[in-house]
Amino acid sequence: MARFIFITGGVVSSLGKGLMAASLAALLQARGYTVRLRKLDPYLNVDPGTMSPYQHGEVYVTDDGAETDLDLGHYERFTGVPARQSDNVTSGRIYQGIIQRERRGDYLGATVQVIPHVTNAIKDFIRADVDEDCDFVLCEVGGTVGDIESLPFIEAIRQFRNECPRGQCLSIHTTLVPYIAAAGELKTKPTQHSVRELTSLGIQPEIIVCRCEHPLPDNERAKIALFCNVRTEAVIPALDAPSIYAVPEQYHEAGLDAEVLLAFGIEDAPAPDMARWDDVIDRLFNPEGEVTIGVVGKYVGLQDAYKSLTEALVHGGLANRVKVNIRWLDAELFEHEDAEVAATLEPCHAILVPGGFGERGSEGKIASVHFARTRDVPFFGICLGMQMACIEAARNTAGLEGAGSSEFGEVQEPIIGLITEWMSEEGLQKRAEGGDLGGTMRLGAYEAVLDGNSVVHSIYGADMISERHRHRYEVNVHYKDRLEQGGLVFSGMSPDGELPEIVERPDHPWFIGVQFHPELKSKPFEPHPLFASFIEAAVKQSRLV
Ligand code: GLN
Repeated sequence: MARFIFITGGVVSSLGKGLMAASLAALLQARGYTVRLRKLDPYLNVDPGTMSPYQHGEVYVTDDGAETDLDLGHYERFTGVPARQSDNVTSGRIYQGIIQRERRGDYLGATVQVIPHVTNAIKDFIRADVDEDCDFVLCEVGGTVGDIESLPFIEAIRQFRNECPRGQCLSIHTTLVPYIAAAGELKTKPTQHSVRELTSLGIQPEIIVCRCEHPLPDNERAKIALFCNVRTEAVIPALDAPSIYAVPEQYHEAGLDAEVLLAFGIEDAPAPDMARWDDVIDRLFNPEGEVTIGVVGKYVGLQDAYKSLTEALVHGGLANRVKVNIRWLDAELFEHEDAEVAATLEPCHAILVPGGFGERGSEGKIASVHFARTRDVPFFGICLGMQMACIEAARNTAGLEGAGSSEFGEVQEPIIGLITEWMSEEGLQKRAEGGDLGGTMRLGAYEAVLDGNSVVHSIYGADMISERHRHRYEVNVHYKDRLEQGGLVFSGMSPDGELPEIVERPDHPWFIGVQFHPELKSKPFEPHPLFASFIEAAVKQSRLV
């Protein structure tokens, strides 16, 4: 039976609990164990799909089509274990299920209450869908201990610990040890209070992880141990790391994985094999060059909005042993002046237009596609970025001046539209039978067939690929011939040939647009082939200028 590790946070949010969970999982994996990572989010949205990227950062999409918290992206990047729908739950989803059951009469007249109904539903979620061979399930609880919202989760964990055999569960509490410059001291009081809060809710953590900007002196570590009722070795200092990929190694050196195994009474664990992390760190800290990538987007003010994309670009750099500098460019700022577009983009060795929603900034994105195409600068368009590349092609190489996307309102030539606007009755019927009604979001893994003579075929080295999607609009296949005459080749299609998945320009150094989100599957030790190839093209470009 799997062992469960619960990870809570105290004092403040943004302590890097997600990275801690991902790093611990990576360390356990490096010792030969199988792991699973889960996130329990106390907010009331049913999922983060409807939340603004400014509020919540990126929405991470799984193969099975769930829109989840961005921490699941860290989990997958650090462990390579594909995240699933059953790895993220919110209070909203828990309550939604309970209210549906209540309306159906499933509770047979009982009064439905937080304890036991909500807590039971949370425990069911924690237990569900765990593979037979899974050694450790790590559950991170969002928010901060003491919040009203997270109380049912903490209570569920308290109950869960009692219901499991001894030695089956472990609780790790992450806190902050702030440095007060005026006093020149680290302060342990917030940690003491936070642990007391958790203890008063019935959970005595076995391990306390202390985030700190300055090294934690032994006497302070001992003090935390004394006041928080743990052994000194179970107080793990966690200093800020130079890169997120250095975090697993750092936690290992601080003794986290050893302490976890000890708490479970596991004495025969092999030492972790850190070879793949050592290689990542070596590539990261010893680059042989650097490139600058211009990312032309809408949510450039908050980098969490493009978390996976940022990491995938870094991974592309690791594959080529170069440092990747990202220039975040607000598409809205260069909508009109060609000279301004050129001046902004000229210093970039490659241009990427990422996914996005809504009209704002779209003309700036189209202008940047135009710049990349006509100046032979490597271009990568992702989801909305691919759609913008198709509009640019339609307007400037296929004579369709009124080309646009119906996402932005009435348009003369809807190059991009909902499938219900342009697909044949028969095509729609077939999709409906497959459960895809159109007009709703296409979410999760879908296959694409690659043209044998294409650039993407040589990059992937495969005839068929599977990538994750999150979009409502599609490139209208009826425009395929017109756009191909203008030089934009449709090199990847859905298996039924109805939906364009990839476009490319064979007459350009590197010009690829994809309807899916390849960044979601990239890992530091397994960079996504499209990002590796894109950065390689940027390196070539950097040698030209
Ligand atoms: N807004 C576009 C659509 O819904 C693109 C979405 C995206 O880039 N993820 O189709």
